[in-house]
Amino acid sequence: DPRLDLISKSIRVVPDFPKAGIQFQDVTTILLNPEAFQATTDLLVEHYRDQHIDVVAGFEARGLIFGAPLALALKVPFVPLRKPGKLPGTRSATVSVEYKTEYSVDKIEMHIGAVKEGQRVLLVDDLIATGGTLVAGAELVRKVGAIPVEAACVIELPELEGRSKLDGLPLFVLVEKA
Ligand code: IMP
Repeated sequence: DPRLDLISKSIRVVPDFPKAGIQFQDVTTILLNPEAFQATTDLLVEHYRDQHIDVVAGFEARGLIFGAPLALALKVPFVPLRKPGKLPGTRSATVSVEYKTEYSVDKIEMHIGAVKEGQRVLLVDDLIATGGTLVAGAELVRKVGAIPVEAACVIELPELEGRSKLDGLPLFVLVEKA
């Protein structure tokens, strides 16, 4: 599919961000090109159109950008998974899970009630590295009695073998990067 090539070429690599030795895959350059951004959304929509997804949940920050248009196109609710203290329901009405990323220990929160028991949830992020973020997201979804059915990312870094940590959760990615 020529659209995959367009997406891949639209990703900028930024050396030594956010710290020395990291080759940061920058998706903001996909967003600058409406054709590439549209292709990203379309490919995800085509993959998930008939998979009975009830809810799309996107990770702060870049999973929000790719998850929201996908949810709209699938005509299902979109749920943001956010960093601690950002959701207005934080004091009383969130569930959270702690996890490790490529760079740090972090935490994600979700509003209680946003995802309902038994719903089939698609997790969306821009990139999978070690897989820690997606594992935490799946745990969050399970905590409220829902079903994480699949994870979707624009980019996979296969060398970090995050896919093998997902414990059977299927992963769909558009492009692989070294
Ligand atoms: P993981 O939890 O180790 O799989 O890391 C994935 C998370 O870190 C995602 O939320 C990504 O947005 C972020 N991340 C790690 N490396 C990169 C990168 O090179 N570009 C963009 N995001 C990254």
